[in-house]
Amino acid sequence: MSTDSLMNTYGTRAATLVKGEGAWLWDADGNKYLDALSGIAVCGLGHSHPAVAKALAEQATVLTHCSNFFTIPNQEQLADKLCAASGMSNVFFGNSGAEANEAAIKIARLHGHKKGITLPTVLVMDNAFHGRTLATLSASGGRRVQAGFEPLVRGFARAAFDDMESLTTVADNNPSICALFVEPIQGEGGIRMASSEYLQQLREFCDQRGWLLMLDEVQTGNGRTGKYFYFQHSGIIPDVVTTSKGLGNGVPIGACLAHGEAAQLMHPGNHGSTFGGNPLACAAALATINTLQDEHLSERAAVLGDRIMAGFKTALADVEHVVEIRGKGCMIGIELNKPCKSLFPAAMAQGLIINVTADTVIRLLPPFIMTDDEADQVVAILAPLIKDFKQD
Ligand SMILES: *Cc1c(COP(=O)(O)O)cnc(C)c1O
Repeated sequence: MSTDSLMNTYGTRAATLVKGEGAWLWDADGNKYLDALSGIAVCGLGHSHPAVAKALAEQATVLTHCSNFFTIPNQEQLADKLCAASGMSNVFFGNSGAEANEAAIKIARLHGHKKGITLPTVLVMDNAFHGRTLATLSASGGRRVQAGFEPLVRGFARAAFDDMESLTTVADNNPSICALFVEPIQGEGGIRMASSEYLQQLREFCDQRGWLLMLDEVQTGNGRTGKYFYFQHSGIIPDVVTTSKGLGNGVPIGACLAHGEAAQLMHPGNHGSTFGGNPLACAAALATINTLQDEHLSERAAVLGDRIMAGFKTALADVEHVVEIRGKGCMIGIELNKPCKSLFPAAMAQGLIINVTADTVIRLLPPFIMTDDEADQVVAILAPLIKDFKQD
C-alpha cells in the first residue's frame, strides 16, 4: 500500500502493521515481530489489552464524547487515581504530550506574572525534547526540531543537563527565570539519566529561588521505570509533572498534574481543550491505570528491565564499540561509538522492533507484560546484530 495523499512528515515507513497482541505485532504480509518499542513507550500493557479494549467498547456504546461544560465522571475518577498514584493534587487533561507540556508552560507563565516578572522565562535543558508545537519545539534542545520554524517562542533559557554549575551560571544571569522544565530521563535525547541526587538538588535550587520545578514525564511516566513516575525514585515532589505516552495504552490522552501553589494558578477561561479528558479517552486510561496497579506491572517493568539490561551487559561485555548500557526499568539505552540507524531495519528483518535515537543510541521501550522468555529473545536477536555491527 502506498499513497501520495499524506503529508511527507515521516518519510518511508518500515512496514504496514495490521495487528497486535501482547508483545507481538503482525504486518500485512503475515510476518510476526516481537515489539521492544511499544509504539514509543505507549503500549506498556501490550497490544490489544483486553481490559482496555473492553472499556473502550463499552464506553463507545454509552457516551463517546461530551464537552467540558459537563461533569465527566471518568475524568474525575482518573484525576483522583493519578493524584493518589503520584502525590500531586490537581490535573488538567489534554490529548498528547505536547499539549500536556503547553499546559505546564502556561502555568509557569502565570507563576512568573504573579511574581511581577514581565518576561517569565522557563529554564530548559540542552538536548531536551518536549514536543512539536511551537512552544514545545522552542523548549526542545535539538536544532533538528526547530530548524525552519523560526521565529521561536520567547521565554526559554537553556542550561546543560545534569550539571548544577551550568544551571547556577544561567540562573544568576537571568532574573526572569521562574521555572525549570526537565525530563528526568531524556528519552529522544538518548536515554540520558538524571541521578536522584541531581533531582534533589533541583528541588532545593527551585525552592531557594521561588521557581516551579516542572518534570516532563511524558515518556518516563505510567509505570515505565518501575514507579508510577520516575521522580518517585528520588523522594522529591515536583510542582508540575506532565505525562501522556503510556497513559491510555494507545488512546490519545495527556495530563498536566500540579501540586501546591502551582495547582491553584489556572482559573476558568485560562485554558481548555475540546477533547481533553473526554469519556472515551478517560475510560481507556482508567482501565490502563487499574490494570497497572492490580497486576503490579510497574514492579514487573523494573524486574523485566533489569533482566534485559543484565542480558545485554553479559552478551556485549567485550564489544569495543559499545560505549554504555543504561536505563531504568523498561527504558533502556545501548550507546554505540558510531551512528547505528541501520540496526532498526536489520532487527526488523529478524522479527524484532527496536528504535535508534540521537543517532548512536539503541532505545528499547518494551511492554511490561513481556515474558522472561520473550525478554531473552530480545537479547538473543539484538546482541549479535550489535556485536557484528560495522557502520551505517
Ligand atoms: C514524546 C514526548 C513528547 C511529545 O509528545 P507528543 O504526544 O508526541 O506530543 C514530549 N516530551 C517527551 C519527553 C516525549 O518523550
